[in-house]
Amino acid sequence: MNEKRKMRVATCSLAGCFGCHMSLLDIDEKLFDLLEMIEFDRTPFTDIKHCGPCDIGIVEGGVSNAENARVLKEFRDNCRILVAIGACAIDGNVPALRNNIDLWDCFQEVYLYEGGLEGNQIPNDPELPLPFDKVYPIYEVVKVDYFLPGCPPSADTIWKFLNDLIAGREPKVSYEMLRYD
Ligand code: SF4
Repeated sequence: MNEKRKMRVATCSLAGCFGCHMSLLDIDEKLFDLLEMIEFDRTPFTDIKHCGPCDIGIVEGGVSNAENARVLKEFRDNCRILVAIGACAIDGNVPALRNNIDLWDCFQEVYLYEGGLEGNQIPNDPELPLPFDKVYPIYEVVKVDYFLPGCPPSADTIWKFLNDLIAGREPKVSYEMLRYD
């Protein structure tokens, strides 16, 4: 007997705080229902290192450095539907407050002038991803199919949104469910 194929879902946090992922986990016991309908690809919940072919990719956080951009492009290349979840992915949010400050001034303030640091120097190991001059919303780097606002979106909102997507419906969340804070 053919079992219905489960949707494959990947998630990632770029310049985010993992709060949107915590809100997803806040659906609590409905996680069991979710796992009846989907299987996870690369997410912070699994040990999969790279995003493979997926039905849905959920991206938290804006793009603040070269590694963020690499991961985001990998998601876009592999996910049929790409979702920007939370204010950071949608418009940069709080991390983008640094957009008004010169990056070099920022680094000097944090790594050279901050009290209590030993051997003050700006990190320069080539393994570290190069920061971008600004924090970018993800739509400025790749095409985005859906935006789910909130900082974070509530668990109920994420649940309703995912249910619609998984069922192949155009996602609809009520006015009461939409928030930007
Ligand atoms: S939108 Fe809010 S909760 Fe989500 S990653 Fe950004 S700061 Fe965290």
